[in-house]
Formats: sequence, C-alpha cells, structure tokens
Amino acid sequence: MNALIDDLRRTVGTTGVITATEELAPYLADVRGLYHGDALCAVRPRSTDEVAAVVGHCIARGVPVLAQGGNTSLSGGAVPFAGERGVVVSLARMRRIRHVDAASNSITVDAGCVLAEVQRAAAQMGRLYPVSLGAEGSCQIGGNIATNAGGTNVLRYGNTRDNVLGLEVVLPDARVWNGLRALRKDNTGFDLKQLFIGSEGLLGIVTGATLKLHPLPTHHVAAWVAPVSIDASLELLARFQTTLGTRMSAFEIMNGAQLGNVLALGPEYKSPINPAAPWHVLVDLGEAFDDPQLRSSAENVLYDALSGGLLSDVAVAISEAQRAAMWKIRHSVVEANNRAGKRVLLDVAVPISQVPDFVQRASQMLEERFAGIQVVVVGHFGDGNLHFSPLFSFEQWNALPDTAAVVAEIRRIVHDLTAELNGTFSAEHGVGQDLLLEMLRYKSSVELDLMRRVKHALDPQGLFNPGKMIPSPPA
Ligand code: FAD
Repeated sequence: MNALIDDLRRTVGTTGVITATEELAPYLADVRGLYHGDALCAVRPRSTDEVAAVVGHCIARGVPVLAQGGNTSLSGGAVPFAGERGVVVSLARMRRIRHVDAASNSITVDAGCVLAEVQRAAAQMGRLYPVSLGAEGSCQIGGNIATNAGGTNVLRYGNTRDNVLGLEVVLPDARVWNGLRALRKDNTGFDLKQLFIGSEGLLGIVTGATLKLHPLPTHHVAAWVAPVSIDASLELLARFQTTLGTRMSAFEIMNGAQLGNVLALGPEYKSPINPAAPWHVLVDLGEAFDDPQLRSSAENVLYDALSGGLLSDVAVAISEAQRAAMWKIRHSVVEANNRAGKRVLLDVAVPISQVPDFVQRASQMLEERFAGIQVVVVGHFGDGNLHFSPLFSFEQWNALPDTAAVVAEIRRIVHDLTAELNGTFSAEHGVGQDLLLEMLRYKSSVELDLMRRVKHALDPQGLFNPGKMIPSPPA
C-alpha cells in the first residue's frame, strides 16, 4: 500500500495525507466514543478534482473509501470498522463559499463548509439557510446532505432534502457529476440528487451543493410553556398551526426530567417557568418584517390555552436575550444528559397524532422493565420526532452484567412499538453501523433489495463506506 500512499501524497500534497497514529486517531473515533476503527490513512483534498483523483487511486487498487465531514454522526456512520484498511476522505479543507445569488435565493458551497458558516454567509445577504442543529458549529454541509439532517426548523422549512437544489458528486468510478443547478423546477428525468441525499456516503462523495435560501426572519416571538399533559401539547400544536401556520418554525418539547438535567448544569441555567411541570414546550415564531399581529396572535393562542386549562404556566420572551436563554436550555440537553448518567439514545418518529400514545406506552414499558431509570424525552414534537432516552445513573449502569444486551432489549421494546404505530427507528440520525440490525428487522425485503440494487449499480465493487447503512442479507 506504500504505492497508494505515494500517489495520494502526489495528489493532495504531503500534508494532506495523514498516517501517523496520533494524528490519525480523531478520524477513527466517533463523537460519542462508542466506535473506533482503523484505516490506512486520512486524506484531505482541496478541490473536487483532487477528490476524484483520490477516488481513482483507491478504486484502482480495490481500497475502501469513507467520506468524512465534521464526524458528528450519532450512528457510527463516519468512522471505519475495526480492522478496515481503507482511506478516510476528509472534506475539511474544502470550505469555499462558491457563489451567492440573492435573486435566485440560492448559495453554492463546497461540501466541507461548516453548517454555521453557511448560515452566516446567508444571513450576511439577508437570507436564511434554515437547517439548524446542535452540532452546527462543526458538522459540514456534505455530512448534512449525506445524512439528510433535520434539526429544530424542520416544522417550517423541511429537512436538508427540502433545502438542496443541486449537487456535485464524485462517483465511485471517479467521474464527477455536476448537478449544481439552482432551479426550482426541472422535470427532465430522474431527480438524481435525491439519490445522494441521505445515502450516508455509500453512493458517492458530495463535493459541492447549491442550497435553497429563505427570507431571513428578523422579528421573533418565543414562548416557554407548560402543557398539563402530552395530549395537551398535541392540542396546543394544532391551535398554533391553525392560527399562525407556517410562521411557527419550532415546537420543541422536553419532559420535566430532561429540564431538571439541564438545570443541574449550573446556576446560569434558569427555567423560564416553574420547572416542576411535567412537560415543557419551546415555541418559536418568526417573520421577515415587523408585524405586530405575530405577537398578539401568539399571545391570544397562549391566553386561550391557559384559561382553558391546557397549560399550567407560560413565559413569553420579551427580549432577544430571553429568547436566546430559552434556546440555550434546548441546546444543552446532550451535555446535560451526558453528565446525568448513561443513556440509550433513541431517535424515533411516529405520526404526530400518535406521539402521546407512543410516549405513554414506551415510558410505562421501560419503567416496568428497568426499575429506577429516568425516561428522558426531548425532541421535535412538531415533526413527530422524539429523542427518547432511558437514562441510567452511572451506578445502575456499572452494575449491569451485560450492557449490550440491555441496549438491544430497550431498542426492541421501543422500536417494536414505533413500528406498530407506523413510525421509524431513525428519524434523523441515519443508520450508519449502529442500526443495521434494525434495518433487517423493520425494512421489508423488497425495500432492502432495492437499496442493494441501487448500491450495486453505482458502486459495483462495494468500496464506498462498505458495511454501513444497508445490512448484508442474513446467511
Ligand atoms: P459525518 O459525521 O462526518 O458523516 C455522517 C455520514 O455522512 C457518514 O456516513 C459519512 O460517510 C457521510 N458523509 C460525510 N460527508 C460526506 C460527503 N461530503 N459526501 C458523502 N458522504 C458524506 N442530526 C440531526 O439530523 N438533527 C439534530 O438535531 C442533530 N443534533 C445533533 C447534536 C449533537 C450535539 C451532535 C453531536 C450531533 C447531532 N446530529 C443531529 C447528528 C449529526 O450532527 C448530523 O448527522 C450531521 O448531519 C452530520 O454531519 P457531519 O458533517 O458531522 O457528517
């Protein structure tokens, strides 16, 4: 393999090829420290042509290729398997904003651009790139596209898939497909970009993207409210949707246990309302112009809900600082839960109307099976997507004889219920290497067969992120 390393060095420069154990380590471990893999090297190309040349060298020698963005995947998708002898292709040096087009409401960027940089570039021209998530300071546009990332604004703007107009992709045969079109309409054959969105690096390396921009909301109304029950949350969502429609960008829920974990982080975290309430919802509305009716309509919905017994408490932010403090609580849940204990992170979605049934039944089943655990619920209620986590204290976790078996049992309980309610076991985190067994259990053989055929058609050697997302058929 020395010849391959030499070719890669000639292609991307000596400093663009990483082989030293210590320098290579961050490319081989995932963000949660759950997965550790091996690779021949990591390469850091600077252009699409360099990515294509790297891929050409690898496929000529039958060497696996793994695209890596910000390495914030929560499904182990961005790190190789243990014992793998492939090449990690990091997009970190491809960070150019290529073109902004305010009239077309589009921006074309290198795939290695960090999400927050793209949001900032859009804001500088008075536009919004709406995809927003906790990892936005480090995840990349290419990674967002490969995972079809969701986040907190899906309710109004859709997920990444809804915000991509065009793509540039290096294919597994090293050809470059330039599909960087800023068109809103184009019915000329298969919409190929959709194939690559959510494909977790199995079908090609995304090197550039043309993204959809929106008017930048400059006036916001945010409220932190306490629905008296999870059913009341559903009713409140319906009322907001009827009255304020698409001006609502977020309807985020957490239970009292989740808020308690965040407040335990320190005195700088203050609950906007009585923290003892069982459920908490953060509602955020925005408009690109100053419309006094936005606030008065929102306050009317909240007043009616409060006086009708749907809510026990309400706080409406009266400054941008108060709104930011509410969002700080929401964005701190991962850190808070990591401090509170060991949790089994689940990322399910069910039809929105089924959320209350799901939460009640899943919580009850887990609390009966694992005495003394905390069920932590946080999520994008407006999308029917919950991060539903049984959380064990460190002592409880360390006393478990077989933690892997516990994780498997929890998944079985929760994911079977999710399937019964016509939901999904992975709403936004993808499959990676974490959920291969769930693919076998919950996807039909027809669906898996179609996926395998698509994969084989584009990557007949099976070299792109091998073994991830699509499980091999059982022996
Ligand atoms: P990576 O982790 O590097 O890669 C993810 C997958 O994409 C891998 O399979 C990789 O091979 C592939 N890939 C990466 N770049 C490319 C490319 N250029 N071309 C082809 N394939 C590529 N996700 C959500 O959807 N919503 C959330 O709210 C959310 N919140 C999060 C909060 C925290 C604190 C953390 C740590 C993660 C969160 N995530 C969330 C998960 C993660 O941030 C997203 O999946 C993100 O889109 C991954 O982007 P990345 O650049 O880090 O990709």
